[in-house]
Amino acid sequence: MEYFLSYEDLEVHKCMLQDTKRNEAYHKAIFDNKEAFKGKIVLDVGAGTGILSVFCAQAGAAKVYAVEASETYKLAIEVAQENNLQDVIQVIHSPVETLTLPEDGKVDIIVSEWMGHFLLHEGMLDSVIFARDKFLRPGGLIFPENATLFSAPCSIPSLNDYWKDVCGVSMTRFSDKLKAQTCQSPKIMTVKSDDVLSDPEVLLWIDLREITVEELNLSKIRHLAVVDKPGNYQGICLWFACAFPATDTEPVYLSTDPDEGETHWKQTVIVLPADIPVEEGTPIPYEISIKRSEEDHRKYTIEVQMLDDEAIEHPEYCTCFKTRC
Ligand code: SAH
Repeated sequence: MEYFLSYEDLEVHKCMLQDTKRNEAYHKAIFDNKEAFKGKIVLDVGAGTGILSVFCAQAGAAKVYAVEASETYKLAIEVAQENNLQDVIQVIHSPVETLTLPEDGKVDIIVSEWMGHFLLHEGMLDSVIFARDKFLRPGGLIFPENATLFSAPCSIPSLNDYWKDVCGVSMTRFSDKLKAQTCQSPKIMTVKSDDVLSDPEVLLWIDLREITVEELNLSKIRHLAVVDKPGNYQGICLWFACAFPATDTEPVYLSTDPDEGETHWKQTVIVLPADIPVEEGTPIPYEISIKRSEEDHRKYTIEVQMLDDEAIEHPEYCTCFKTRC
């Protein structure tokens, strides 16, 4: 299957393994909860190269089932051996959806790194939900335990750079028309915290202990953002944060907030068809929806709609400004 084939490219794993913020968040969350891992049975959903399984084994798990559907499972076996943990980590080459486990088929803890761009891209959370419902003992722990998706209006200073000087010719008129004409795909890019124009709004909050697959099909909010610095309103920026269980200490967070340093997820930006200069205090009413594709459950359509200033209070709103990606 194409999705799993994409995970056979070692560059993809390199990118994740070099994301220190990501690695350290999982490491700290697992080691802060050492007592909870001691002697327990763990399921690593989508083990990849096996790094999270190794963390769990090092933290004292009795058994870690490292389930990986792609051929990368072979590397996970080698990584377990390289760390002398082959007796604790059992790598299983299978989609979690067709997995069977020995004994009573239950685990105490699920660990998974399922998050995609704007959290939901790739739809891997469905597999974690499946694993939770089938394998997690009542009261078991899930790492991470909850996740929040945020949205905020932003400016994108680099957006027009190229068009300001095309071989010495300024072509911004052209790029303005182009932007208005083409619906651009969401951009995966680094947004500087200075370019986020207002406080964020929560677009989606997920409790992994309870969320269902159906609840991930559509997220939608209407928000009245208030600009807190002058700038150019050019897009809506999305990012997410996850929190891990805390049995002993404060919970560990893994955040892709522009304020908190880079991760390999960067941020996701929905580019508007025109720039709007804004001042401190300018209201930006908008509606954003993230809808799962009916053809491909791993894909989502993001739609942003500008509301007129008053409309946030009303059921009817202006449709003059709409972008769909
Ligand atoms: N846990 C690793 C890899 C995370 S990337 C790490 O943290 O570095 C997600 C991995 O999950 C990929 O290797 C992908 O092939 C695997 N995966 C995704 N869905 C899966 C499923 N349903 N069953 C088994 N493996 C899956």
